[in-house]
Amino acid sequence: DRVKIRTALLSVSDKTGIVELAKALAEQGVRLLSTGGTFKALAAAGLDVTDVSDVTGFPEIMDGRVKTLHPGVHGGLLAIRDDAEHVKALTEHKIGTIDLAVINLYPFEEVRAAGGDYPTTVENIDIGGPAMIRAAAKNHAYVTVIVDPQDYPQLIEALRTNDGETAYALRQRMAAKAYARTAAYDTMISNWFAEALDIEMPRYRTLGGVLSQEMRYGENPHQSAGFYLTGEKRPGVATAALLQGKQLSYNNINDTDAAYELVSEFPAEKGPACAIIKHANPCGVAIGSSLVEAYKRALACDSTSAFGGIIALNQTLDAATAEEIVKLFTEVIIAPDISEEAKAIIAKKPNLRLLSAGGLPDPRSRGLTAKTVSGGLLVQTRDNGMVEDLDLRVVTKRAPTDQELIDMKFAFKVAKHVKSNAVVYAKDGQTAGIGAGQMSRVDSARIAGLKAEEAAKAMGWAEPMTRGSAVASEAFLPFADGLLSMIAAGATAVIQPGGSMRDEEVIAAADEHGVAMVFTGMRHFRH
Ligand code: 5GP
Repeated sequence: DRVKIRTALLSVSDKTGIVELAKALAEQGVRLLSTGGTFKALAAAGLDVTDVSDVTGFPEIMDGRVKTLHPGVHGGLLAIRDDAEHVKALTEHKIGTIDLAVINLYPFEEVRAAGGDYPTTVENIDIGGPAMIRAAAKNHAYVTVIVDPQDYPQLIEALRTNDGETAYALRQRMAAKAYARTAAYDTMISNWFAEALDIEMPRYRTLGGVLSQEMRYGENPHQSAGFYLTGEKRPGVATAALLQGKQLSYNNINDTDAAYELVSEFPAEKGPACAIIKHANPCGVAIGSSLVEAYKRALACDSTSAFGGIIALNQTLDAATAEEIVKLFTEVIIAPDISEEAKAIIAKKPNLRLLSAGGLPDPRSRGLTAKTVSGGLLVQTRDNGMVEDLDLRVVTKRAPTDQELIDMKFAFKVAKHVKSNAVVYAKDGQTAGIGAGQMSRVDSARIAGLKAEEAAKAMGWAEPMTRGSAVASEAFLPFADGLLSMIAAGATAVIQPGGSMRDEEVIAAADEHGVAMVFTGMRHFRH
């Protein structure tokens, strides 16, 4: 299953490591063929290299759009070496076999990420490269294909130890990688088109990414896991810089994303905000006159659950806030930026993962989210609905006070980021109790109330914060029972989408208790 490499075709846009590889190949007596730019780089390094035009008898034309698309190249890559007909064709048409193809593609992803204009981006769609990669990979019984400069050392080592030959297993692995590469490449191109033409749900939705991190394990230790980057430039866990601490785990990444997306609902210019997350659900969210105050108020909601949590801030982490945070065991902090003093304080806790995101994501921006089901991919646009943009309708006799309205909106924003069924009590820009993920809305309302009572005990308050609070339900209240449970916890104002068959019944119960209720007309299920 070993194949001696006699002729190699090198055609690379990213020239990293190509001279070293070519030198190693030359040492093994391999004949080198190359395209224009790569040829120049190799010749400049003093290597003996043949221009592929000399092989095809055809010049590069149309600004390089056609360089290697020629039977002289593709015949050499695709010929079955022990098939008499194929060998005859090679001889008849004077085609030499190519045993190794080292190719990396026009930098489409980089040009797209750099915001290249339409024609520039289109011009960076590689045609001949993917064709050669696919041809070489198909013929992996005889041909070795290398698409990633990271694989050069492995190839050099294999050739040195095996007398210039490659093993079948290596060629197979590289072929698998090659098709993953061309698939990912075309995915990026089709996604760019979908974005440019504003097609949200094309018939073929391709999702793809490049592995940026392999974790020790997934959600559980017996699961393997990796983090793939899609190239979307949204500030957040995927693009943030890790300033200290170990690599993020699968659960850390999931929870940090939830935390940062939630805190980004509160724009920095409107004042400091903090969200503390456990298992992708918030256990406290608050705004404050300073960042440290926002943190303390978020923590007060459920300081027991906050242990080992993820903290997201909407402003630069400062020294005062860092001093408070290090008092408690925390897994991850993410903020748009970190002050030098804060970095020094956090450094005393070397295991604490500190992420600087460089900015806040725009909660109104569009994008896609996906999850897998067996045999399918569920894809939807991001939930970018904002309570500020909705026409709120007062449905009760009593209208909410100004403060109640502010608290309602705050609670509804948080509820959008809580697993359904979500019930969130809030008062003065601080969550007072959060009920998450229950199968019954009444249970979520009750649990939130109970947690608020526990928090009051822990903090030494006379009464739970839910007394005189506003409460949000992320989906409509199907019966009056949930509302009664909220009223029992002390809520005086309720915000919910409305639209239940029994809205009248629920409104009547609210009126009976003098509670103000507002309908948003928008639901925020989160499963
Ligand atoms: P070079 O820098 O050597 O001139 O060009 C290398 C790049 O050209 C590689 O990224 C390779 O994938 C690409 N390439 C090779 N052949 C062709 C072709 O026939 N058409 C196009 N569009 N690109 C090619």
